[in-house]
Amino acid sequence: MKIKQLADLKFDNRFTQTLPADPETINNRRQVFNACYSQVQPRKVSNPKLVAYSKEVADLLDLHPSVCETHEFTHTFVGNQLLTDMQPYATCYGGHQFGYWAGQLGDGRAINLGEIINQQNQRWALQLKGAGPTPYSRSADGLAVLRSSVREFLCSEAMHHLGVPTTRALSLISTGENVVRDMFYNGNPKAEPGAVVCRVAPSFTRFGHFQLLAARGDLDLLKQLLDYTISTDFPHLGMLSPETYCTWFTEVCQKTAEMIVHWQRVGFVHGVMNTDNMSILGLTIDYGPYGWLENYDPGWTPNTTDAEHKRYQFGNQPQIAFWNLGQLANAIFPLIKKEQPLQDAMDCYSDTFEKGWQTMMANKLGLRTFTANTDDDLYAELLVILQLIETDMTLFYRQLAKIDCSQGLDETQLNNALAILADAYYVPEQITSTYQERLKQWLISYSQRCQADHSPHAERISQMNAVNPLYVLRNYLAQLAIDKAEQGDYSGIHELLDVLRQPYTEQTGKDAFSAKRPDWARQRAGCSMLSCSS
Ligand code: AMP
Ligand code: MG
Repeated sequence: MKIKQLADLKFDNRFTQTLPADPETINNRRQVFNACYSQVQPRKVSNPKLVAYSKEVADLLDLHPSVCETHEFTHTFVGNQLLTDMQPYATCYGGHQFGYWAGQLGDGRAINLGEIINQQNQRWALQLKGAGPTPYSRSADGLAVLRSSVREFLCSEAMHHLGVPTTRALSLISTGENVVRDMFYNGNPKAEPGAVVCRVAPSFTRFGHFQLLAARGDLDLLKQLLDYTISTDFPHLGMLSPETYCTWFTEVCQKTAEMIVHWQRVGFVHGVMNTDNMSILGLTIDYGPYGWLENYDPGWTPNTTDAEHKRYQFGNQPQIAFWNLGQLANAIFPLIKKEQPLQDAMDCYSDTFEKGWQTMMANKLGLRTFTANTDDDLYAELLVILQLIETDMTLFYRQLAKIDCSQGLDETQLNNALAILADAYYVPEQITSTYQERLKQWLISYSQRCQADHSPHAERISQMNAVNPLYVLRNYLAQLAIDKAEQGDYSGIHELLDVLRQPYTEQTGKDAFSAKRPDWARQRAGCSMLSCSS
């Protein structure tokens, strides 16, 4: 039975009921000690309008879609009114930003509304992003602009449909008020339309929640938070003890490794993998200056704030996650007091990542299993070839599936194969005969490897197309939808959301959404370059 009115949502606010609150209730910026959260009211806005909602997330909350079209829904999820059992709060956390300890950060523009228990007994926390300042807003305003809210809304849902663990987005609501942003921090502030996204996840706890308590030496509260987290989000781990803490950390390591394998599979670059942006549930969280690889380039990051060192470039993501887990290990060490089990868990990350990556690559290439003595070289050579000339990663794998490799490839078939792959190149003039020879050699080895697998071509196609998406949220596609939305036309958002619901299935009339980046988007702000300004 779907719920027809918001008042029927069932709340069970465990986070606020179990953990200590900041006694101060005035909303001024401050350091908060001995508490996990501060109570705070969302800011009221003058003219909210529903831009989009996710019917799948509404369904998770048992909400009938008609509820999402009501005036009450818009006013509730922009923060103008509260349901009876909502107890809004912002949580306290710290983190390492770009490798350096930053001290207290906290929910500077996220306001949690409470936790819902749905009819399947699942717990879903609701959080507004951009609903006004909190004690953790530091020098910023607690608001969010439409462009970054569109990006967060669409990408959360796109990632889910791709099968990547992620926080979700219920709604995107424009506030009717302007927010001033200096998009590239270069002295050009501009008024932009504001918006609020309602994010949804089983929990929004981050590595940084534990780190801040450890850094302050508040070990009692550190233990309390960990016990709370295990009993609420990891109940299968059972009794609370130092051994269970180690098992918990091992599970965090595994989940993080699985998430990163997915990012590498679909070509997602998070852009700001600071430890405050790492979820203990291994969910992709905090969509800021993220991007999607267009031409395959492990050195690419969309984040101009990280342009100098490119710490968070695509190819670094696996090592950065490992480093971040090391910081979480340091934080919980005082509760465990033994290094070896934490080290073992970190090894488990490396192991899970390596095995996951090998299997993921086998799937991307349509191979039944990973076979070390042939496939290591096969993958390595492919990843070199993809970088020799500008090659669209997404289209390359989809086109590769079309080449029948169930028998040997003669010269004619090799030339046909090259013609099939031609769609994936950005600059055809970059194709040289040396490049073609190298690609042909790789295709010969690959087809030999496929033949050893004895899988019929049709089977290989479906295996590959199930893991290699055709539609991803290309940076320029998001920007086109934003350009329209800023003019008050939300149709681009709706159309994108719809296509991205089935990213692996070719959809008629939707070629524009699988097209590689047009030339105009190469250097345009929002398409290839983004900053943390949002
Ligand atoms: P990020 O790296 O974007 O996830 O943000 C780092 C920290 O800055 C977090 O504590 C955020 O809550 C905070 N923050 C980012 N933008 C704003 C804003 N506009 N107002 C208040 N706090 C913000
Ligand atoms: Mg963040």
